[in-house]
Amino acid sequence: MINSDILYNLILANKERCKEGKVADYIPGLKNANKENFGICIMDNNNKISYAGDYEKKFTIQSISKPLILMLAILDNEEDYIFSKIGMEPTGDPFNSIKKLETSFSKPFNPMINAGAIAVSSMIKGDSSEEKFNRVLDFIKKISENPNLDYDRDIYHGEKITGNRNRSMAYFMKNDGIIEGDVEEALDIYFKQCSILITAFDLAKIGLFLANNGVTSYGERVVSIHTAKLVKSLMVTCGMYDGSGEFAVKVGIPAKSGVGGGILSLVPGKMGIGVYGPALDLKGNSIGGYALLEDISNLLSLSIF
Ligand code: GLN
Repeated sequence: MINSDILYNLILANKERCKEGKVADYIPGLKNANKENFGICIMDNNNKISYAGDYEKKFTIQSISKPLILMLAILDNEEDYIFSKIGMEPTGDPFNSIKKLETSFSKPFNPMINAGAIAVSSMIKGDSSEEKFNRVLDFIKKISENPNLDYDRDIYHGEKITGNRNRSMAYFMKNDGIIEGDVEEALDIYFKQCSILITAFDLAKIGLFLANNGVTSYGERVVSIHTAKLVKSLMVTCGMYDGSGEFAVKVGIPAKSGVGGGILSLVPGKMGIGVYGPALDLKGNSIGGYALLEDISNLLSLSIF
């Protein structure tokens, strides 16, 4: 296991990279993020934990919620049903792109882009919108082993007010029967799930859960091995959006980024890694987080390929 001092030195070595990026600025709550924040946490199977920098700083999970609620949706629905409505292919387009929806009868290419994730949100079971979101939050609490998780109300309102591109995709999908339930309800769950506050420490825990194919550190199996593998495969092919191919070459591990600046990553069977750096590259991936993961992967020969 890499020790915390080495992680600290890697943070220092990559700090300059963060200055090249830009924080997400579509809502004030994200725009106010500090570009200098930079943190990492790694947890392995032998209960060893290393960390450095702002690994306890809270930020919004954003798109990292996508693979997580996919697991809950698979618990709630037949897998065949989900993938009759959503594909498993990378798009090569930005995460919020709408263009392929029109040529695919609204079927989103995969659950890691906005359109696919909103369709997944529409499949979460519950008697009311509140109950559905609470089930999402409880699920993420369980796999992060953090009972204190909550969502940021200001960011949620910002997402809801500015989310017209997401709204248009959702109505497009409703029109073609991809979304079967209430569109606004699905969007509300999606906006709330994006606003859940998380840390690099929490992400490392979730990474370890996936690394161990769906079992928590206290031994509870939450999802099947099959589901964990499915999610990790989609993280490899689609988790870094239209940067997934390059990330697979340069870093070579399953990962999922969010515009809040987090990256959830893991080495199958071995460790979970959470990073945070809100300055993003042009594709919406944490620029410092990416560089850090590349260095660590090279140093420890982590590529799964
Ligand atoms: N809330 C963001 C959106 O819906 C999430 C996108 C992301 O993290 N890439 O556009």
